Amino acid sequence: MKKGISASKGYAIGTVFIKEENRVNVEKRYVRDIDREERRFQRALDLSIKQLQRIKVKSEREIGKDEAEVFESHIMLLKDEEFVGTVRVKIETGHINAEAALYEVIESYMKIFNSMEDEYMKERGIDVKDVGNRVFSNLTGWNFSLNRIKNDKVVIVAHDLTPSDTVQLDKSKVSAVVTDVGGRTSHSAIMARTLEIPAVVGTMDMTDSVKNGDLVIVDGFDGSVIINPDEDVVKKYRIKMKNYNREVEKLKFFIDVETVTKSGKKIKVLANIGKPQDVEQVLKNGGDGIGLFRTEFLYMNRGNMPSEEEQFQAYKYVVEKMKNKPVVIRTLDIGGDKKLSYLLMPEEMNPFLGYRAIRLCLDREDIFKPQLRAILRASAFGNLKMMFPMISSVKEFLQAKNILRQCMAELENEGIDFNRDLETGIMVEIPAAALEAEELSKYVDFFSIGTNDLIQYTLAADRTNEKVSYLYDPMNPAVLKLIKNTIKSAHEKGKTCAMCGEMAGDENSIPVLVRYGLDEFSMSASSILKAKQVIMKC
Ligand code: PEP
Ligand code: MG
Repeated sequence: MKKGISASKGYAIGTVFIKEENRVNVEKRYVRDIDREERRFQRALDLSIKQLQRIKVKSEREIGKDEAEVFESHIMLLKDEEFVGTVRVKIETGHINAEAALYEVIESYMKIFNSMEDEYMKERGIDVKDVGNRVFSNLTGWNFSLNRIKNDKVVIVAHDLTPSDTVQLDKSKVSAVVTDVGGRTSHSAIMARTLEIPAVVGTMDMTDSVKNGDLVIVDGFDGSVIINPDEDVVKKYRIKMKNYNREVEKLKFFIDVETVTKSGKKIKVLANIGKPQDVEQVLKNGGDGIGLFRTEFLYMNRGNMPSEEEQFQAYKYVVEKMKNKPVVIRTLDIGGDKKLSYLLMPEEMNPFLGYRAIRLCLDREDIFKPQLRAILRASAFGNLKMMFPMISSVKEFLQAKNILRQCMAELENEGIDFNRDLETGIMVEIPAAALEAEELSKYVDFFSIGTNDLIQYTLAADRTNEKVSYLYDPMNPAVLKLIKNTIKSAHEKGKTCAMCGEMAGDENSIPVLVRYGLDEFSMSASSILKAKQVIMKC
């Protein structure tokens, strides 16, 4: 048995699928606009070269000059006129998409290398494939490793899963997730909860302990994984699964029940989502609205930024689906453990303390403004609010508001409708904001406490690092003081205080949050019904 950290509740019994590099399935399409296709190809090439240059520098520094040479050969291939030219000719003459053209050329190169006797030359074939995969990934945002799952219902075992890996998981094929590294509030753990897939993270060496096809039991409650269990244990777990499903059934009673504490305070229980389709789960679980839409997932698993129009359609879809219930859209929070393959970001010593969220957006109006315009446009279609992540001071909030005002003025001039009184709040997830809540509450329309980050910054314990997870405690008195101060400050100015960090859905923390007067609780849709039950006992 392996012990890890319980990241998403539930039980699963299934066969192991180890995450590894994978073959790709390329679709060949007819394209009319060849110029556009060539530009797409060029962009992916440029980006791949830049990435390889960075990897080369890093490996020279960390591994050695000789070992880093391989990346130079990758770069040379991407600059090779014959290689690149052949892909272009294929796009032009065949009117085919760049990825299909690229793969045809790669396959023909590999055939040549593979037919050679020399081992060294054979290996060059693998290099070509590797480079091709990188360009392909930059063209499409496709992630290679998890797309080979054919058998239904496997347990994915991985050293780590990126948030973009997790968001791509198909529930019909994946019954659980187990990783070597990670903490309860790493974004991949949060996404597993959103998808209602049981998960155990931080097992340290699970990938070394199993092989493909092993039978495992994943216990998402106590964070354990049993490898090749005997029949009795399997039987015991089948009973546990049955009982759990029965309990889940019972909780359905709370779907349409208004959440009121014993002293009569009405409390909203909302959901956190990462993509528009997650709305289904929210409605199924009787959520009072969306308390956090993590918009960064719209930007992942693709080759370029989503346009203003695309974002507008996504936000409008969510807000309309939720009828008149509130939907809080959070502006882009990229950085930390969330990366975009096509956005070159500086290598940082401390990504969680670095160029992230609102800091990046204030610096990159070209990225920020299209999103703000999309949110504003969608605000005409329902009960939409917005908030900024990682605000650390009044000044930063006012800067963001200023850009928002510019977008409003633009739309006004263009005669496009939006809600002029759009409520604008902030995430309180940096200790400085919690300490300055009294001042900030004069300017914002609402607070939403982001405990996932607030806890890691207050206790200096990386949320994704299993080695320090023992320090990561929502009930630490320092954390509680900050939460209490934030709620009190909001209420003194007549503002609402919500919480959208994972603590809001934690059964053990809910009573204390109710006591502090928290108005809204936002969590993974799968936690809503249990949370309602707990609140109503308070
Ligand atoms: C938080 O920090 O609590 C939060 C909700 O935001 P994220 O988990 O996306 O950082
Ligand atoms: Mg956060």
